[in-house]
Amino acid sequence: MEYSPGDSRSTSKRKVIAVVGGGLVGALNACYFAKRGCGVELFESREDIRQAKIVRGRSINLALSHRGRQALKHVGMEEKIVSKGIPMNARMIHSLEGKRSPIPYGKKGQYILSVDRANLNKELLTAAEEYPNTKLNFGHKLLDWSIESGAMTFLRSDGTKMEIKADLIVGCDGAFSAIRKQFLRQSRFNYSQTYIPHGYMELTMPPKNGDFAMEPNFLHIWPRNSFMMIALPNLDKTFTCTLFMPFEEFEKITTGEQVLEFFQTYFPDSIPLLGEDALKRDFFRLPAQAMVSVKCSPYHMGNKCVIMGDAAHAVVPFYGQGMNAGFEDCLVFNEIMDQLNEDFNAVLPEYTRIRVPDDHAIADLAMYNYIEMRAHVNSKWFIFRKYLDNF
Ligand code: FAD
Repeated sequence: MEYSPGDSRSTSKRKVIAVVGGGLVGALNACYFAKRGCGVELFESREDIRQAKIVRGRSINLALSHRGRQALKHVGMEEKIVSKGIPMNARMIHSLEGKRSPIPYGKKGQYILSVDRANLNKELLTAAEEYPNTKLNFGHKLLDWSIESGAMTFLRSDGTKMEIKADLIVGCDGAFSAIRKQFLRQSRFNYSQTYIPHGYMELTMPPKNGDFAMEPNFLHIWPRNSFMMIALPNLDKTFTCTLFMPFEEFEKITTGEQVLEFFQTYFPDSIPLLGEDALKRDFFRLPAQAMVSVKCSPYHMGNKCVIMGDAAHAVVPFYGQGMNAGFEDCLVFNEIMDQLNEDFNAVLPEYTRIRVPDDHAIADLAMYNYIEMRAHVNSKWFIFRKYLDNF
């Protein structure tokens, strides 16, 4: 399966696009390029998650908002995804004493949706595959590519290597992007990466008497100033609870008893819902995971390559906009392709010009919300202000 833009599969009419990374943004992007009639080859290092028993990823569920929905709508995927999402109309703040106070997200009737990451990824891959001009190549890890020739080298899961070229390379290979590595070698490429001191750990809250253990249509938050826990509902009536805390605090907890003591001190109302035994066990199942914020510019190299999603702008998760902004990247790129007649010489710089300020703003807002969610949300003034906002 080796070809280049000169081969028969790439006629002068049909541009061949290599989408590197078949995560959320790569899979959606494949739909966008396929819909406009390009030949799409998607390369994903993992095996096909639709066949995998265990899907490794970051969070189990995610908040899908207006920005992401608009991008899904354009390729006819909005309803399919929304129908499997759970509306969250408000935050539900859990005080230390166990009092619960709702703070709406917006005006009456506005909400964000809790969606299952694995299901969303699977649906988008299936939608991409339904286009006859798309081919999904799993078990293909990008090792390297050349800015001069555009040739990409992949390592296949059988250990063999292959080299291909395409008219355009679209790097959607996540926060540690292999595509972006080549950008770093170019002059006038700006790049910064920041790890925050907090890590995150996911815990599952099982259903209670066959129903959700807490009110389902809320994003639950236990703000405790220097750290916090949140919980998003899942279709199987579980909640995924995510504890965000400085790594040094995680490291202090080494025994099941210490876990219980910690939860008793800071999240006492959650203990009966999570279950003492499960809590003592699950806390040590996986180590806390790091969170990185990546900002860079430009998002393109010549007329050959562009990066989108976390590859271009990994953000901390506190604004719930990483995936949503990545989805919007696909929509914005598509609009520019229309405006500039698919001329990559013009489209790529224009995409950078339009998109960099917006994605950088999202990264800054996410950093700001890192403090807002765990601390400001706790203050009486915040609750009062939000109360006023909704009138
Ligand atoms: P990824 O999802 O990382 O996908 C990249 C893909 O590229 C992967 O499939 C990977 O296997 C593949 N790949 C990597 N390297 C290679 C290679 N060399 N060759 C081929 N393939 C490769 N966002 C929201 O909008 N709402 C939320 O509520 C939200 N919650 C979050 C909670 C947590 C705890 C975290 C960590 C993130 C959250 N995010 C949220 C952010 C969201 O997860 C990311 O923005 C989103 O996953 C980015 O999608 P992506 O496709 O760009 O990258």
